Amino acid sequence: MRTLAERLSEVQSKISDAAALAGRDPSTITTIVVSKFHPASLVRELAGLGVRNFGENKHQEASAKALELEAVGLSWHFVGQLQSNKARSVSEYASTIHSLDRESLLRPLEGTGVDVFIQVNLTNDPARGGVAPEKLEGFAERVLATSGIRLLGLMAVAPLGEEPRAAFARVRAASDKLAALEPTATALSIGMSGDFTEAIAEGATHLRIGTAITGNRPPRG
Ligand SMILES: *Cc1c(COP(=O)(O)O)cnc(C)c1O
Repeated sequence: MRTLAERLSEVQSKISDAAALAGRDPSTITTIVVSKFHPASLVRELAGLGVRNFGENKHQEASAKALELEAVGLSWHFVGQLQSNKARSVSEYASTIHSLDRESLLRPLEGTGVDVFIQVNLTNDPARGGVAPEKLEGFAERVLATSGIRLLGLMAVAPLGEEPRAAFARVRAASDKLAALEPTATALSIGMSGDFTEAIAEGATHLRIGTAITGNRPPRG
């Protein structure tokens, strides 16, 4: 069985290879290790291996880990569906929220200084989270009009049953539209364990990788 360090270095070399193939500088790609379900001890071990960016999808679990590991000096990324009554609390420990998808999140985040990605829904299922692509520009205008938050770009999860590269190309097209509204909001949070090489080919700047690095997730709790 491979160790955590071996899995991490294997993923890092695949990222470098995919970047080279796409003619991209790998230092422009931030890898976020999604540590959901895993204990703080695993995060600490990865921090010892040089990982600085971690992703979580539940407020309670994320806040507990961020508090326990406060002295380590990590950046926390919130990647899960977010309730408006928790948004402000999340912004207290998270540097970045990847799942901004509703107007009701804007007021609580106003003035917090948090970085945000707008999540785009690539499926026809509204329960999946994310803004429908045809509503993106209107929502982006509201985000840009909110003071004290910084819009970095777009986040998406490739749907099952679609070739990931084609799905990510749709995000990239949406990103071009967003750039017309805000030329600095060009980051792309796309790519997970099963599709990060395709995401890099389509311009990913932020990868959210869980199991390929952490191994299988234990049952929560
Ligand atoms: C869990 C999760 C990931 C990581 O998934 P893996 O397939 O384990 O890499 C990435 N993004 C989001 C939004 C997630 O919830």
